[in-house]
Amino acid sequence: MNITPYNKEQLDTMLFIIDYMESLSVSQLDELRNKITDYLAFRKDVSAFFERHLNIICMRKCYESKLSACCTREGIITFFADMVVNVLCSAPVRRNQIIHALKNNHSGNKCVYLGEQGCMWQVKPIVCEMFLCDSVINEAFSGNNGLKEEWEKFRRQEKQFKWPDKPVLFDELETIFIQQGFSSPLMYFHNSPGLMRIKKQSLPKA
Ligand code: SF4
Ligand code: SF4
Repeated sequence: MNITPYNKEQLDTMLFIIDYMESLSVSQLDELRNKITDYLAFRKDVSAFFERHLNIICMRKCYESKLSACCTREGIITFFADMVVNVLCSAPVRRNQIIHALKNNHSGNKCVYLGEQGCMWQVKPIVCEMFLCDSVINEAFSGNNGLKEEWEKFRRQEKQFKWPDKPVLFDELETIFIQQGFSSPLMYFHNSPGLMRIKKQSLPKA
């Protein structure tokens, strides 16, 4: 059976990221890792927040019923930078699991990255990490303004990495690969009209 267009885009992008990283020296890889240190710290804080306050709700509403409503949609948006971060943080066995899924999963009734043990990504896409369904929002935040404010703070922090009205990590990671001659449809900071417009508007006026 043919690979779906979505899986092919994801697979091609992941394979060239891996190829490029395998061509780097240890110090060049360290340089790349240093760039994502603050982002990984942010992701760790968000995970801890979920662990403390939200996972128990998701467990009851979705995981116990095997519904996993977040992950039952196919074609989840992944940014190029999501893939770079995930490849940098994943052991080869985990990368291979993803490659195998992209080459062989044709079901289309759930996210291709959802495996037996949950999400196959080591550092899952930011869109997934920051998604809260209405029932979680209502149950966790109504009557708890402190918690709601904590979440909104994370939302503002997220923008520091991916809202391109200033130089941001997600754009920078794309640029690094573009300068090496790579291109991918997942490079939204260089091909999405909306994001390009925000970047353009933020340039100093001549
Ligand atoms: S955020 Fe909502 S849909 Fe997603 S896993 Fe939690 S309860 Fe389920
Ligand atoms: S990438 Fe992972 S977290 Fe996101 S929808 Fe797919 S399985 Fe779920």
